Amino acid sequence: MNRLAGKTALITGGARGIGHAFGQAYLREGAQVVIADIDRQRAEQAATAMGENACAVVMDVADQASIDAGVAQAVDRFGRIDILVNNAAVFTAAPIAEITREDYQRAFDINVSGCLFTLQAVARQMIAQGGGGKIINIASQAGRRGEALVAVYCATKAAVISLTQSAGLNLIEHGINVNAIAPGVVDGEHWDGVDAFFAKYEGKAPGQKKREVGQAVPYGRMGRADDLTGMAVFLASAEADYIVAQTYNVDGGQWMS
Ligand code: NAD
Repeated sequence: MNRLAGKTALITGGARGIGHAFGQAYLREGAQVVIADIDRQRAEQAATAMGENACAVVMDVADQASIDAGVAQAVDRFGRIDILVNNAAVFTAAPIAEITREDYQRAFDINVSGCLFTLQAVARQMIAQGGGGKIINIASQAGRRGEALVAVYCATKAAVISLTQSAGLNLIEHGINVNAIAPGVVDGEHWDGVDAFFAKYEGKAPGQKKREVGQAVPYGRMGRADDLTGMAVFLASAEADYIVAQTYNVDGGQWMS
């Protein structure tokens, strides 16, 4: 416990799902937490429930002015940023013949530009503080290999893995560790949309795709957000000082299957 005492963590997309679980885990380890999310209501609810060591900032990671404003608000509130989790992302899926430029652009704006330019803004803040810090990008098994109906999302997550390598190599001279976590399938609200998609394109009954995906995981079930928090705390802690530009699978064995 208290491995992150005195640290401030900013978590994009922290209002629900995996980002929310990370916020709770960081709080338990003694950190102060900034929930940075486009969903004002959910972000404020989450921060209020977390108590005085958390706050919400409204941030759209696809918008530079919004990133800059969110980072400035976080620094106003807690004085510094020591940890960034680049978690905000959108899932999109379609057969190649039906991909639209709008969907493609939105996914890249949020999942890739959002990751890079939030990382840049926070890295500048960390350097201005005198250096040091931890940046954790949330990639995916989808970034490790393509999937027939998920081309755009897979490409965005492959880009996140690549950005992690380059940014990790570049920023370590400032004592800033950039690493990534590549989860496998994780249960959560985002599955509502995923299930509807596979019902349409693969003729699955409601809930069927999710059941099949869970059964295919070598561990024996789909992941839960809490399965990822151990790695998230470790990569944010001083124990990970010598780890640079890596992407870790936390996936119940999916990568190997
Ligand atoms: P989620 O959809 O439940 O939550 C995403 C959060 O991001 C929401 O709170 C949403 O409001 C916020 N958000 C969306 N667009 C935003 C924007 N432009 N700016 C700021 N915030 C924005 O997602 P999740 O399932 O918890 O996934 C979290 C991360 O983990 C994502 O990067 C996702 O790609 C990755 N991931 C998820 C799974 C999975 O199966 N759930 C698997 C592998 C990787």
